[in-house]
Amino acid sequence: MNSALLEELITKYRENKLAHAYLIETNNLTAALEDLKEVIKNLNCPHTYQTNCHDCNLCNLINLSNLPSLKIIEPDGPFIKKNQIEELKSDFASIPLYSRYNIYILKNAEKLNSSSANAMLKFVEEPTPGIIGFFLTTNKDIMIDTIKSRCQSYTLNYPVNTLQESLNLDDETYHSYLDFVKNYLDYIFSSNIINHKNIFLNQYSDRHDIEIIFKLILAIYHEHFLKLTNRSYQSDIINIYPLTANIPEIIKKMQIISQFLTNLRYNVSVELILDKFVLEMRGNYE
Ligand SMILES: [Zn+2]
Repeated sequence: MNSALLEELITKYRENKLAHAYLIETNNLTAALEDLKEVIKNLNCPHTYQTNCHDCNLCNLINLSNLPSLKIIEPDGPFIKKNQIEELKSDFASIPLYSRYNIYILKNAEKLNSSSANAMLKFVEEPTPGIIGFFLTTNKDIMIDTIKSRCQSYTLNYPVNTLQESLNLDDETYHSYLDFVKNYLDYIFSSNIINHKNIFLNQYSDRHDIEIIFKLILAIYHEHFLKLTNRSYQSDIINIYPLTANIPEIIKKMQIISQFLTNLRYNVSVELILDKFVLEMRGNYE
């Protein structure tokens, strides 16, 4: 945990100056939630808090998501539902026994639907002393305004592993793969694809190279998918190969690329799966 926001929360808590609701936009919901739990443990641990305390009942209850005064709400299906908010309200009707505050965290707060947001609104409009809320989202632009306007707003971003790092490639190798990917995609979507196998295999015939190239292609589609579904995405990867496809098309193509990678691992003939890949990417799904 290493963030000015989290340290600020700890200081404000000690000074009794916490706001009643925080909106935190993050590029990594899981990490943000874990860090918030660390803050809450830090503030409530009866010992001098050490990261990952397993020595006290309170930290153990938080680790097990069983502390009555800490409620973490995640979408139940596509939305956070009204009954989840009603349940929270009744759970928090009494004062906390083991901690100073009752704290709720909404993960994917943008997934409040209109009825659950209405139920939530009362909570943030007329805050009950002793209750503090955290609304975590990857995109505050799609959050309901009435809630957003009643929260203190922060950003909590984490470093992202670049694709180049995750594939463990030096600059020159990475860029030569990328140049190839661009030309190859242009070619297989062009009108004349008669040489597609030669174009590929004359330059890269080793299965390891082929695997990296298809991982790059998959990453391009995946980042476009993240962008289209309003999630945080890496624009440098999107810029490698701009796409105009819609969400269902992109999902279909991600399936085709993943299937290629699976077949490649099973030692199926590369020529055969390249043929299948090109036909399917061009829209012949049979
Ligand atoms: Zn502890």
